[in-house]
Amino acid sequence: LNPYNIVWIVIDALRRDVLEHMQFLSKFSARCVVLEDAYSVTNTTDPSLTSMLSGLYPLTHGVVQHGERVEPRHLACVGAVDFIQKILKKLGYATAAVDYLGRWHRIGFDIYASPIRRVEKRTAVSTIKKLLPKRVKMLIRRVVPARTRLGLPYLAEDATELAMKIIGELEGKRFFLLVHYWDTHIPYRFSECVEHGCSFECPHAIDARYRVRDLSRWVRGEWVKKLVDTFGEATLLNAICSAYMYSAALVDREIEKLVSFLEQRKLLDNTIMIVTSDHGESLGEHGIWFDHHGLYEPSVRVPLLLHIPGMDHRRVSGFAQHVDLVPTILSVLGVKHPRPETLDGEDLTAAIEVGSTNRSLVYAEEAYTERKFMLREGRYKYIYSPTPEAALCRYCNTVHGGIEELYDMDRDPLELNNIADQQPDIAREMRKKLEAMTRDMVRKRVRIKLLSTHAKR
Ligand SMILES: [Zn+2]
Ligand SMILES: [Zn+2]
Repeated sequence: LNPYNIVWIVIDALRRDVLEHMQFLSKFSARCVVLEDAYSVTNTTDPSLTSMLSGLYPLTHGVVQHGERVEPRHLACVGAVDFIQKILKKLGYATAAVDYLGRWHRIGFDIYASPIRRVEKRTAVSTIKKLLPKRVKMLIRRVVPARTRLGLPYLAEDATELAMKIIGELEGKRFFLLVHYWDTHIPYRFSECVEHGCSFECPHAIDARYRVRDLSRWVRGEWVKKLVDTFGEATLLNAICSAYMYSAALVDREIEKLVSFLEQRKLLDNTIMIVTSDHGESLGEHGIWFDHHGLYEPSVRVPLLLHIPGMDHRRVSGFAQHVDLVPTILSVLGVKHPRPETLDGEDLTAAIEVGSTNRSLVYAEEAYTERKFMLREGRYKYIYSPTPEAALCRYCNTVHGGIEELYDMDRDPLELNNIADQQPDIAREMRKKLEAMTRDMVRKRVRIKLLSTHAKR
């Protein structure tokens, strides 16, 4: 066993292409293994985090939904899942998380702490809300303005401070620490950015003339209303984008603080650091504004940096997915997974040695605003929705891209030209493969559940 600590940083909704704009992280990359073509397995936080820490696709662990849409049936298997923190805890690691998501995300953590007082209040309110009948809850959702519903749970500065406090307390022990930064999630740190008169360049250029109210020309639905409530209808769209970049810069500074803290304590040389996001963010691409639905590249490509003690910097080409992290990290530690046959991810350590992975495909799915599945293989990317109804986005009240989409990523990296009709054979093959994969995942879920029931007996 390599006695390394683990600090696992998740920056919510951080696009892959923002990494180059982050001063500290681009410098820190030169000390890390950089996985260039990394993908999340979904585009919402709850299932993504569950997949990241388990090495299982959403359909395998069962949590395909997010937030208030997670139902008890989605959670039937999570108790049986071998989360990495659970595995390491059994090996004597102290396990801690800085986050506010709670619920099953607490599994395997000795300490699960949220840096804000506001959350405590919210917990009291949500306890009361839980007792209300569904109809009353729906009514509250309709009358309470969206502004109060869209908010950051806490600030990066507070998360870092709490993370450092926890590390201080755990000093001398081997530890696993998860730190979740939220600032790059809508509404970003918008008002602060406006106050400071900040102006950041956006990775996705937005015409400087357009305002939030102009969105209603392109998309209809509750989401436009939410954006108007949050930002004001006269707000320029590129100002919101600027706030996104400003928030990324703030998180960058906080990670720098955390890394220098580890260095000062002489812990960094003994710590595996993972820096990634749970999913990306669409900044207007495909008519998806300041949110992370859709299985297009802006929402599913993620930054992925691994700081591994004793390993030199290298850039690794080829596909990688969040589900590969658990087998890879365990392999670096020299720890055996208790049920490796259940894992969906691949151990990338050998690939890291040679500088390229041989993962042949990338899988992702979404269920929150629309139900779609994605397969990326070679130069092609295929997206499909099982039914026309499931393809309708409940945020934008529109179908983004169609029920079946195929893109040639070599010739059309922005996914603008759907060739599903021109290449029906490729589309059919990829659909068959996707359907077989999802069937396997469901089967595997049943097996994981059975295995753990047997183990308990
Ligand atoms: Zn998220
Ligand atoms: Zn939409």
